[in-house]
Amino acid sequence: MAHALYPHLLAPLDLGFTTLKNRVLMGSMHTGLEETKDWPRVATFYAERAQGGVALIVTGGMAPNPEGGVFPGAAGLFSDHDIANHRTVTDAVHDAGGKIAMQILHAGRYAYSPDCVGPSPIKSPISPFPPKELDEDGIEKQIADIVTAATRAREAGYDGVEIMGSEGYFLNQFLVTHTNKRTDRWGGSYENRMRLPVEVVRRAREAVGDDFIIIYRLSMIDLIPEGSTFDEVVTLARAVEAAGATIINTGIGWHEARIPTIATSVPRKGFAWVTKKLMGQVGIPLITSNRINMPDVAEDVLATGCADMVSMARPFLADADFVAKAAAGKADQITPCIACNQACLDHTFSGKMTSCLVNPRACHETELRYDPVAVPRRIAVVGAGAAGLAAAMVAAERGHHVVLFDKAAQIGGQLNMAKEIPGKEEFKGLVRWFETSVATRGIDLRLGVAPTVDDLTGFDEVIVATGVKPRDPGIPGQDGPNVFNYIEVLAGKAMVGPRVAVVGAGGIGFDVAEYLVHQGESPTEVPELWRREWGVGDPSVNRGGLAPEGPRPAAPARQVTLLQRKNEKPGKRLGKTTGWIHRASLQMKGVTMMAGVNYERIDADGLHISHGAARENPTLIACDTVVLCAGQMVERTLADELTAAGVACHVIGGADVATELDAKRAIDQGSRLAAAL
Ligand code: NAP
Ligand code: SF4
Repeated sequence: MAHALYPHLLAPLDLGFTTLKNRVLMGSMHTGLEETKDWPRVATFYAERAQGGVALIVTGGMAPNPEGGVFPGAAGLFSDHDIANHRTVTDAVHDAGGKIAMQILHAGRYAYSPDCVGPSPIKSPISPFPPKELDEDGIEKQIADIVTAATRAREAGYDGVEIMGSEGYFLNQFLVTHTNKRTDRWGGSYENRMRLPVEVVRRAREAVGDDFIIIYRLSMIDLIPEGSTFDEVVTLARAVEAAGATIINTGIGWHEARIPTIATSVPRKGFAWVTKKLMGQVGIPLITSNRINMPDVAEDVLATGCADMVSMARPFLADADFVAKAAAGKADQITPCIACNQACLDHTFSGKMTSCLVNPRACHETELRYDPVAVPRRIAVVGAGAAGLAAAMVAAERGHHVVLFDKAAQIGGQLNMAKEIPGKEEFKGLVRWFETSVATRGIDLRLGVAPTVDDLTGFDEVIVATGVKPRDPGIPGQDGPNVFNYIEVLAGKAMVGPRVAVVGAGGIGFDVAEYLVHQGESPTEVPELWRREWGVGDPSVNRGGLAPEGPRPAAPARQVTLLQRKNEKPGKRLGKTTGWIHRASLQMKGVTMMAGVNYERIDADGLHISHGAARENPTLIACDTVVLCAGQMVERTLADELTAAGVACHVIGGADVATELDAKRAIDQGSRLAAAL
């Protein structure tokens, strides 16, 4: 019988030799877990997701051979010894009632190694190493290694493999003339260029037998110059089906594409239309992907015929029980992935273990546990921003009695500012989720209350999460009527003129600039606008899906100058995988960015600056309004009063360390403290 709430999402999918219990695939993510070689830890991570009801998990990319690894030492399945390790994982997932496929990822020229290989010796813009051009024997070796990885995966107990053919990796590199300049049977015509992926699938199928899932991840819109046309996509999909693929998964954009594909500012389900174009062209199921993060979004994608199944990856870092909660009618309790990349992809690209901003347990399941307490205590948490909320929620989940105070009329603290920024709408859902969680976990919430030392003396533990206050940059003239701080601006309490100087180019300076240059609807909520803004076209008309006119952003609402004192590229310290998007977005809106400046004074004409240590070259930034985004200072008044009165307290979040505070650190610190109380 169809599920009442999500009839499409929770319907089984019959693959002939096996059945998936619902339409949810946990997409492949490179977490860094496999590289730890701590296989029980890897197994626990995947088993928790299987326990939570996802039908089919795809592992992080496993290299078929050392030259195909994304970096030297990347995890792979090279030997019989590896097979036993991987069996720890597959057994745990099967015991939890799930299914798991291993992704075979050959990075080709994206491998961060001098040993990387590719169709032609053309360096990628995101790697310093030009690939070695493979000869016929070299290509045969790569095929053989991929096929061997598939047979080893079967031996290791996997239910299938996903052959990674998208995102600009090895197989994808053969498909397009952008990277394939060969003149032999592996290059030239499209038939030749697609020979490699099709041969890989055909030979893998021969080797693994009929009753083993082979997913082929196919780049349906490359978003690069000289990318595939949609006719080529259809041709490849049919050939891959004929070669023995069980399912085709969607890949969106090469890693070198200059169009965001998964960042939070990409509209929800923003690329499902691409998969929909392929529906009906092949007989096997299609999976769609990218920016699908809630059950209603996924249900809608399936109900409107965009695909047969949905892939979600990061949402399973945020909440292992995503499917179970949806099935139980508790979607409002699903911890939402806000697509920030801050603790997942940004970590991966800095060589750090993946975690999740909203769920610090992700990939740390064996080490960070929220076990029930034997003796509940009375815990006061002061401040319902990210740090305080996390501490309160984990403490309550463990069984403590929690009273949560905030002097404001609503919870969320600085998160309420983030949600005002165009492109950061996901923060609204995060604050809503915190509200639901506070209510369902029985936390005694006292809003509009700033407790005194006396109010707090009766508690067993006091947690101070009073956050931050804006730093006073002390610029002469900053008390004039044309100067506001970011809080006044984002609260809509400032009359901001058409020409603005923003003092401070940190996370908030960038956000405020984004807020000021936009008018009307946020492109994140209007997919057509967003596609126009970034220059995404129809791959049936424009090769690779690049609009020939390029990006066509709406005219900026204001003329903004963004300034910082440090003599370094503005935005350098923003997220590793998202900083370029923020910079590109502001550049498209004509924002001028200036580094290495001194703020001399503000008057009715605008902001007077000078340059460099010698304060040379005095310049007027003529503007109507100056907005101060000069960072944060700790707000520790209460903590100091408690300490003076001899009341012990724990200080977390911005109240602890204000410098470059972000929600990731705040939530992690709050959660870890509460896990230890
Ligand atoms: P921030 O990132 O620490 O940046 C503070 C800015 O103020 C810097 O540009 C700094 O540059 C400038 N500044 C510092 N002292 C100053 C002074 N005395 N006079 C004038 N300028 C001064 O802090 P934030 O922008 O307030 O953001 C707070 C945190 O929220 C961020 O660090 C970030 O982690 C988080 N956040 C993150 C995002 C994100 O996209 N991930 C977005 C928003 C907020 P100079 O010292 O060079 O002038
Ligand atoms: Fe999603 Fe951000 Fe968590 Fe990554 S860190 S899974 S993007 S919420």
